[in-house]
Amino acid sequence: MSHSLFLPVSQDDVRSRGWDCLDIIIISGDAYVDHHSFGTAVIGRYLEKHGFKVGVIPQPDWRDPAQFLKLGKPRLFFAVTSGNMDSLVCNRTSANKPRRTDMFSPGGKAGMRPDRSIIVYTSMIKNIAKGVPVVIGGIEASLRRLAHYDYWSNSVRRSILLDSKADILVYGMGEKPVLEIARRLNSGEPDLSGIEGTCIMSKEAPSDAVSLPDFEIVRDDKKAYMKAHKQFVDYFLQRPDYPIFQKYQNRWLVHAPPGPPLTTQEMDEIYALPFKRRPHPMYDSLGGIPAFEAVKFSVTAHRGCFGGCSFCALFFHQGHIIQSRSKESILAELRQYVNDPDFKGTVSDIGGPTANMYGLGCKYHEKGTHCGKSTCLGDSPCPALNRDHSKYMDILASARSIKGISHVFVSSGLRYDIIPESDAYKILTELCTHHISGQLKVAPEHISPNVLRLMNKPGKSKFVQFQNLFSQINKKLKKKQYIIPYFIVSHPGCTEEDMLQLQRFLTGQGFIPDQIQDFLPTPMTTSTCMYYTELDLFTETTIFVPKSVHDRTRQRTILHGYKKSIRHAPDKQKEPAGKRHRSSRKR
Ligand code: SF4
Repeated sequence: MSHSLFLPVSQDDVRSRGWDCLDIIIISGDAYVDHHSFGTAVIGRYLEKHGFKVGVIPQPDWRDPAQFLKLGKPRLFFAVTSGNMDSLVCNRTSANKPRRTDMFSPGGKAGMRPDRSIIVYTSMIKNIAKGVPVVIGGIEASLRRLAHYDYWSNSVRRSILLDSKADILVYGMGEKPVLEIARRLNSGEPDLSGIEGTCIMSKEAPSDAVSLPDFEIVRDDKKAYMKAHKQFVDYFLQRPDYPIFQKYQNRWLVHAPPGPPLTTQEMDEIYALPFKRRPHPMYDSLGGIPAFEAVKFSVTAHRGCFGGCSFCALFFHQGHIIQSRSKESILAELRQYVNDPDFKGTVSDIGGPTANMYGLGCKYHEKGTHCGKSTCLGDSPCPALNRDHSKYMDILASARSIKGISHVFVSSGLRYDIIPESDAYKILTELCTHHISGQLKVAPEHISPNVLRLMNKPGKSKFVQFQNLFSQINKKLKKKQYIIPYFIVSHPGCTEEDMLQLQRFLTGQGFIPDQIQDFLPTPMTTSTCMYYTELDLFTETTIFVPKSVHDRTRQRTILHGYKKSIRHAPDKQKEPAGKRHRSSRKR
């Protein structure tokens, strides 16, 4: 395969295009996979489409300055990202031990990116390419854009914009802000202020903005930290047209408002960019890129999630408004799969952050805002929410009728609580008949009302109803299909009594809980705020937070002890096979 089909990664690639230099060079902590599930490819292809010459330096050795200059200096700017994940989440376990593998690196090899990649990469660039602007973006920059609690250093850190000394930070998915930055710099305009979806540092407080508590205050006062978090959540939900700022001694971090959500046409344009849909050939002999295998023949139908789960950071990155592609765009992508020699007829997923949110929203979402309530879902969906699943089900049906496609699965998580009650039987029957490969991932996350309230998740009864309907339908269809429920242990507010409730529930239902995840306080989430402050976000009263190794281990042991007892029980004591299942699938 010709390397010239990919964005340039070497001087030879640059020269083969007849170029003297590049406009923009993307430095990434991930391997370069030219697929729309990988941020570097999306931003690179988007800028390329708008006429800019873009190159990529994936996973440079951060100790070697020459690697950062292997494509020369860019005419406009370096764009720096840690990759699809925060580098510390990627590199370290919840026990702060190095991970053994990295799904975004060749052959799954760990150690290909530094901890705090953005700070390390930007610092190197600032040393060796003085005067060249650095734009930081991606999940690490986005979720560390304000003062934030950092689990790995157990401290409240400044915005990563200050710590990296970059010139501007792009938050969210970033296509439009980064294009605007490129256009301004290309036209010789040095002022990067006021670009939607960005943060900059200013020597003056903006006059037309609202203020978050100062950094020093949130660093030293947990109640102020929580107040700032709640204020920012409210700001980001409303998506107003004015900035918000935070003071750092004698400077101000100015957070410009998010731009309007992408239209369907804009989404279609992005997903129609000329991705090669595979890792760069330089990785062929290195074992490929494991993260790519999971998404190779999957389709992103939409962005955004209005679920508002406390432990999830997606709201702060993609927002709560669903931005959907058109049916035509999705089917056009599927037709391309059919022509791919590697395609064996199975589409692994058509979905998004939550599969069945495709095309959903309310009149406020349509206007790009929010009504002011704290959540669209919580224990039960807001009555104003349009939950009509017909568009999504129609796409699934059309996809499976494409010649050359034999299976279309849904492997993104499903929110069972948003399926309209009146259509639940029909929708679930269709999913069970055509779109489940034996296992359906759902995320009750817990059972205890106390923990579910803090997680902003629906109550146990919704899960039980769904589970019963699922069993009933599969029995009728004579299919052996299983629900894979995911649970989080050691969430803030979760006590041993809560874990015993979960254990008793699982015992009663005959589930073997293989999908158990230790709560990890990742930057910016509401659960992380509760973890750090040890305060209930809703009542601001003190809560128990299992932080010590001892407490966290005990919570896990309660479930593992149960699991072991089930596995070692005589066969006659075990639950009927239809209810028992295991899964080694990763989340
Ligand atoms: S009206 Fe309901 S669905 Fe719409 S933004 Fe408000 S809570 Fe969410």
